[in-house]
Amino acid sequence: MIKSNILEIKKIIADTARLVNRKSEDILLLAVTKQRTVEQIKEVIASGIYEIGENKVQEAIVKFKNLSLDLNSKVLKWHLIGHLQTNKAKDAVKIFDLIHSVDSLRLAEEINKQAEKIKKIQKVLVEVNVSGEVSKFGISCEESFELIRSIDKLANLKLQGLMTMAPVVDNQELARPYFKKFKDLFDSINATRSVDNKLSILSMGMTDDYEAAIKEGSTMVRIGRALFK
Ligand SMILES: *Cc1c(COP(=O)(O)O)cnc(C)c1O
Repeated sequence: MIKSNILEIKKIIADTARLVNRKSEDILLLAVTKQRTVEQIKEVIASGIYEIGENKVQEAIVKFKNLSLDLNSKVLKWHLIGHLQTNKAKDAVKIFDLIHSVDSLRLAEEINKQAEKIKKIQKVLVEVNVSGEVSKFGISCEESFELIRSIDKLANLKLQGLMTMAPVVDNQELARPYFKKFKDLFDSINATRSVDNKLSILSMGMTDDYEAAIKEGSTMVRIGRALFK
């Protein structure tokens, strides 16, 4: 049952937050519904989760249409968590509230251009490849500073934070050093920003490692499998 899975995850989030003296309200549960049906998404929504993460633009568009909810009601917030190709930016800005996967200036500029066309300020995160694994998308920690400076100059983008994926490990405690490194990067970027321009979203943690991510400061966990088990 999706509803009881959500309750269980929320309890783990709250318990983990308490362990490290954080408030559970500061950690958002994003339901990752890639490869799930519209019926399953409806169940997620009925359980009180209104932030939905998809990894493919076209798949998301089809689901939005089939959900037959009023998508302009602004109740639901759609997140793009997967890699975005520049030629899909036009469709992505139409439907996504937050794009987690900006990892190049070329992509940022294209999103900015498409957002400008529809007079939207597109919220984005910069995806960082914190482990340096070649299999992963994302910009390196070192290069993220320059990309962020460039994004700040693009009028139709609003940078809200950073996103990463930790390596797959047997025991999630082993992922903590990567999350810690990422939180340190987040803090050092924020140290250079003015008070009214601080990054607030640290998107890290999935089914297998969200407790470790919360312990290291995650503000948004992206959970798929644990919701639908
Ligand atoms: C699939 C996916 C998730 C969710 O993964 P689970 O292991 O199913 O919780 C989170 N983030 C990204 C970027 C994903 O592609």
